[in-house]
Amino acid sequence: MSSACVLGTANPTQATRYQLWADSAGYCCNPICQNPLFVDVGMALTTHFGEIAHIIAASPGGPRGDATVPVPNRGERENLVLLCANCHTVVDKTPDSHPVEMLLAWKEQRRAAVEAALGIAGHTTREQARAAIEPFAHQNRHIHRTIGPDNDYRFDPNAEEAAMWDREVVATIIPNLHQILRIVDANRELLTDEEKDVVAALRSHVDGLTHRHLGDGGLRVSRYPAGMENLFA
Ligand SMILES: [Zn+2]
Repeated sequence: MSSACVLGTANPTQATRYQLWADSAGYCCNPICQNPLFVDVGMALTTHFGEIAHIIAASPGGPRGDATVPVPNRGERENLVLLCANCHTVVDKTPDSHPVEMLLAWKEQRRAAVEAALGIAGHTTREQARAAIEPFAHQNRHIHRTIGPDNDYRFDPNAEEAAMWDREVVATIIPNLHQILRIVDANRELLTDEEKDVVAALRSHVDGLTHRHLGDGGLRVSRYPAGMENLFA
């Protein structure tokens, strides 16, 4: 924490600190820096030089200070950004070159980059959201069609396909369904009201499937909702 960051009630809670570290993905949030914040210092030791910077300063006289913002709000996640020690010093010594809007944009860019890396980005059109879901849905449809329980082997309880199907449900189908739900949740504002019902049904299906194959095994699994075929279509 630099001397410009007066603490007191503008000091973030421990939970907020964890969130800021997660938000940064472990790299300085200045997009032209992006230095890794954890440094191997040898002898199997690791240290970090991440610092929590205030966007609007903790005190009104500090960098980007604004007396109209209530003191507790200055210690909230929205007003804080994780930077390397160098960038923290630079943004606080040159606040005119690093205004509030710029630091907020850094945070937003990192959030978008992390989501994109995880394949859970928010999309601007229904076509984009559908395209993001399609590879996962396609793979699941293919597995279901080739070794799913609707095939003839269901009459033979010892069929090899049954074991293959069980394995694929855990290794591929359930992870793909969770990925589809993440994408849908990130694009919820693009859903129609009817589609929200389809997604609720999908969530029940995924919960049931997850419990049956990875949990207590006892739950009945609702069917994969037919409406998924036209989601975002
Ligand atoms: Zn930096």
